Amino acid sequence: MNGASSKLCFYCVEYKKVAKDYPLNYAFVDHEEITPRCYLHWQYECSNCKNMTHFNGIAWCSDCKEFTCLSCADEHMVKKKFLVYDYYYTIDCKKCNKPNPALDYAEFEGSHPFQIGNLVPIEDVVVWMPIHPEEAVSDQFPNPTWGANRVENMGNINTITRLESLEKADPKSVWDANAPNWAKNWSEGGDFNHKYFIIPEVLRLLDVKEAEKVLDVACGEGTVARHLANKGARVTGIDYSNMIDYATKRECEERSGINYLKSDSLKISETFGKESFDKIVCNMALMDIENYKSLLKQISEVLRESGTFVFSITHPCFAVPTTTTVRIPKDSQRNEDKIRIVKNYFEKKPTLVQGKSGSVNLLYFQRTISDYINALQEVNMVITEMSEPQASEELKEKFPRDTYLDMELVPYFLIVKVKKASEL
Ligand SMILES: [Zn+2]
Ligand SMILES: [Zn+2]
Ligand SMILES: [Zn+2]
Repeated sequence: MNGASSKLCFYCVEYKKVAKDYPLNYAFVDHEEITPRCYLHWQYECSNCKNMTHFNGIAWCSDCKEFTCLSCADEHMVKKKFLVYDYYYTIDCKKCNKPNPALDYAEFEGSHPFQIGNLVPIEDVVVWMPIHPEEAVSDQFPNPTWGANRVENMGNINTITRLESLEKADPKSVWDANAPNWAKNWSEGGDFNHKYFIIPEVLRLLDVKEAEKVLDVACGEGTVARHLANKGARVTGIDYSNMIDYATKRECEERSGINYLKSDSLKISETFGKESFDKIVCNMALMDIENYKSLLKQISEVLRESGTFVFSITHPCFAVPTTTTVRIPKDSQRNEDKIRIVKNYFEKKPTLVQGKSGSVNLLYFQRTISDYINALQEVNMVITEMSEPQASEELKEKFPRDTYLDMELVPYFLIVKVKKASEL
């Protein structure tokens, strides 16, 4: 048997965050695991199948004096808060059929075989005897030490907050606050992602021709609008945040014939006549707009029949807030140490993502891919092409830090080309 290590047990430390009187045991072997465990929180042998099972997947029957693991009998979920959890399992005793709680809950309620004297630990462990179990319940759920959250807290870069309402953060004020920093740090042609992944695909899919009338919805500081004007399109840019002030200023300094309008994108059907534009683009903004269905409806109205609409968004599956990234160890600079955690694709609450100090904050409205597809369908728009940009060999050679084992593996952006169908 290996001796005690210098590391504390992962579970003991975790439980102590909620139960202040929780005794800390040392992990029983010295190895490089991120979750070293004490004997109490190790594995127990099933009396039936003889397999060793994690303590949260095996139950003790005090009547039969036997362990039954989850593979040997039926189990039942019980919704109840304890420690950092909001449920536990009972497992039917293989012998008498009595449902007994798995050992994590048994320890909390004081029915663990070590606590009630049915068994005596062979190893040296201090066993917790909960006196006030009602105090050992986290008032916060999900608790920061729960499930994916505990991994995320090992090295998260952004602070992600799901909002119950938009009282504390509305899209316009978030973008107004971002505007000065964004304009200052935004290099010509955009940041790395825009330059190499987003804009080339947006331009390819939009495929503007000389003299075409193009509307840039939520145009921000005008990067895409200027690209389109350079190709000879007659461009109108609309945006209600202070971002557009930078676009207007730029237009005054070096005229490229773009018509900027500081106005709400959700009023385009009031501002422009039906079928006013040959093409419409909405670059990296749809996921920041709460009423996307109304916007898509209005886009369909002001777009001519058979006209093209192209939008780019952060990827609904692989980008923040659905997927977050941590590095373990958190100071590692190698990309294979970047671990992606898919948190909740179906979470529809608005989400505030606060970047490192000085960078921009973002307010997202998470939607599924089917939400977008169905919303387009409802307003007579048909998807003709989708693009999920992947790092090319050339980009990997030029920018390995950003691409190798990173943007070559997952798409962070989704770009969609849509055609307005003829009226039925
Ligand atoms: Zn422990
Ligand atoms: Zn078993
Ligand atoms: Zn039994």
